[in-house]
Amino acid sequence: MISCIAIYVVILMTTDERVNQLVSPIHRGNVRNGCGFVCSEDGVFSFLRVWPTFGNGNLVEWELSPHFKDPTPHSFTLQSAQFEAPDTDWQNVIGPVNDVYYLQDNSTVSIEFNSWLHYRVKLETSKGTYYSPPISTRETFAEYKDYARWRGFILAWRRALRLSGNKGFLLKKRLSGTPCSCVDPLTGESTDPNCPTCDGTGFVEGYYPAVDCAAAIIERGKLHQTIRPPLGSVVEGNNLAVVMLAFPLLFEQDVWVNRETGKRYFVHTISDQVVWKGVPVVQQVELRLAPLSDPVYQISIPNQIPS
Ligand SMILES: [Zn+2]
Repeated sequence: MISCIAIYVVILMTTDERVNQLVSPIHRGNVRNGCGFVCSEDGVFSFLRVWPTFGNGNLVEWELSPHFKDPTPHSFTLQSAQFEAPDTDWQNVIGPVNDVYYLQDNSTVSIEFNSWLHYRVKLETSKGTYYSPPISTRETFAEYKDYARWRGFILAWRRALRLSGNKGFLLKKRLSGTPCSCVDPLTGESTDPNCPTCDGTGFVEGYYPAVDCAAAIIERGKLHQTIRPPLGSVVEGNNLAVVMLAFPLLFEQDVWVNRETGKRYFVHTISDQVVWKGVPVVQQVELRLAPLSDPVYQISIPNQIPS
């Protein structure tokens, strides 16, 4: 498995002497600390980016600010336009869809790099309507050659992970939404790590629906204890160091599910393992096994092979 990935890396290295700057792990703290690549001035969207799928259009991914308290459902519509001015003629691409963290524009496959194409996300709640700032592939790469090189890296790593990685699912933890009744009003955090309503996240329906997410295990760490805050269910198990593509962007306490074993792991630490022009390609993640008593095991995942 690892050798397969290594082969791809070697191929990349032989084709680009600048790869040395790619394989240096870079921690992208600012992405998870307030603003991501694009922030909205009203503070509703804390992170927004376009992620080309190379063959099936573009994914637009976002995070809402933890301070955004409008109750769910949050209804999202992806819109596109050829210009980014607010009064331009925005067209609905897909939606509205409730309570998601990305939407995909697969209306065409030829828009992966288009300096004129802009997206924005429209959010409707019972309290109001909000718009993300416009974003385009130009926000990510200024020149096609940079985009094309990044695409090569993504495709190589995606193929390597498909061939040799462990199939799995990602459950992204909700960072906004309807606060659960178990939340302490002073701390704003859940007081019950086994709460069946929020799965201990503090927000109703604590995790978004699962998405496919392959991971290649590069190291099985020594035995450790995982303590789930705030009251602390404890489990002993091997933590894992894995590599994954940098979509979706992970946050601590997201959950990765091994499709074959059914084991569920909390994301503990994340760092960019491969970066091109400041844009992540592959992320390295430390995973810690969730105790069997944890409510994350109660989240059903369609297509998961029963363990
Ligand atoms: Zn709760």
